[in-house]
Amino acid sequence: MADKTAITPTRSEDFPEWYQQVIKAADMAENSETRGCMVIKPWGYGIWELIQKDLDARFKATGHENAYFPLLIPLAYLEKEAEHAEGFATECAVVTHHRLEAQKDPETGKTKMIPSGKLAEPYVIRPTSETIIGAAFARWVESYRDLPLLINQWANVMRWEMRPRLFLRTAEFLWQEGHTAHETATEAVAETTTIHQLYSDFLRDVLAIPVVMGEKTEAERFPGAEMTLTVEAMVQDKKAIQAGTSHYMGQNFSSAQDISFVDRENKKQFAHTTSWGVSTRLIGTLIMAHSDDDGLVLPPQVAPKQIVIIPVTPKEESRQAIIDACHALAQTLTSQTFHGQNLRVHVDDREIGGGQKKWEWVKKGVPLRIEIGPRDLESHKVCLQRRDQGIRDKSFLDREEFLREVQSHLDAVHQSLLQRARTLREEGTSECTDLASFESHWSSSDFPGWLLTPWDGSREQEEELSKKHKIAIRCIPISEEVASEAPCILTGNPTTRRALWGRSY
Ligand code: AMP
Repeated sequence: MADKTAITPTRSEDFPEWYQQVIKAADMAENSETRGCMVIKPWGYGIWELIQKDLDARFKATGHENAYFPLLIPLAYLEKEAEHAEGFATECAVVTHHRLEAQKDPETGKTKMIPSGKLAEPYVIRPTSETIIGAAFARWVESYRDLPLLINQWANVMRWEMRPRLFLRTAEFLWQEGHTAHETATEAVAETTTIHQLYSDFLRDVLAIPVVMGEKTEAERFPGAEMTLTVEAMVQDKKAIQAGTSHYMGQNFSSAQDISFVDRENKKQFAHTTSWGVSTRLIGTLIMAHSDDDGLVLPPQVAPKQIVIIPVTPKEESRQAIIDACHALAQTLTSQTFHGQNLRVHVDDREIGGGQKKWEWVKKGVPLRIEIGPRDLESHKVCLQRRDQGIRDKSFLDREEFLREVQSHLDAVHQSLLQRARTLREEGTSECTDLASFESHWSSSDFPGWLLTPWDGSREQEEELSKKHKIAIRCIPISEEVASEAPCILTGNPTTRRALWGRSY
């Protein structure tokens, strides 16, 4: 009989339900009474803070500064760029009143609060901030000397999502949104690709998630953008997650909003703008990419606690000495660093059963667990368990040796998660050159994986195929080598263009 798992159902039994149960077991977040919105609990929020910290340093190192803009956007701002307005129209929450009035129900005697004070001009709760940040840019930019303008905002946004799912798609979510303005198209495109690469590096080096870097087709582009670059991650049921996007807007927003400047020849020009963002969806992505049937598995750099030390105290006489040794070890560890930050170490000396303790930390995904018992104390050893390895695997290490090598143990966890995710993606992606096998692929299994095909079809043909099989072109992958000419799976026209198709969250 298979070992009992900490999470039911397992991934293969019911992947979406497994995902919800992992979040619950790790105590990361819960659904709230507000439709589509979640409560992010300390363990989940701790992960977000670490993501923020790392990304923020990367943005600053590439010349960006943080600023903050209003949550409420005047409706008229959204009307300026027609395609953008239309793209977000069905997802907007609108503020129409600015007061509540108490009214007593004559029958029940209960007080009801009724919205009153109707606003002459409604406000839209930002679904994204191009328009309101653009209005500020229009005021700030006068000359080419004011450019480039490189701004980032950490904020919450609202999109009235019809099918919410914790972290991956919520009505309110936390994110960063970069907004930049440049003198030339070349500079703005370079900014878009710089951030695209920054996201890809971050996902690989911090979240241990390899991504496919590519460009969205016109059908999947951000409303109002000329080009949308995306990083696409594959998760364990072989679906895709759009983990981050970087848009080149051309002069669409600047001309609509009059972000203009006097150029080097003393002529008026419209700036070229970009925007880019990643959100709390990254947390959902890392859960689905790495976790297992015993719960969350965290890449060490975003683990709120990287090492948990559990005293094993079967005998009263050695109890205090063991607990002291655990705290002493924690103190020494905490003064060491990993990727520039002090190690996050916790001693779990609660007076509860050892099994319960162990499973709590397993389910929370802590990368390294250390146990110290009476025998280890005498022999100066520690018992090490890695979350990415079998739940019963353990190694006994000399205490000093462990202290010397702790960073390489954490690195090893990161590398093994990254390698596993790479293998999954390689095994889950296949090339396909004919329409018949393309069509049968999508009904062949519950987890059909991605297909890479020669593609030269129109937007309408792409949308028709997508609708029929509940798939989408995740991206046109960007690669250094140009593919050889091959007939498009639909039109038969020879093309060097390749499309990556998949189901997604
Ligand atoms: P966008 O402005 O649409 O390009 O979105 C930027 C990024 O935010 C996307 O690449 C997603 O990763 C993320 N995102 C979009 N919608 C949601 C949502 N409803 N919940 C969480 N994250 C989202």
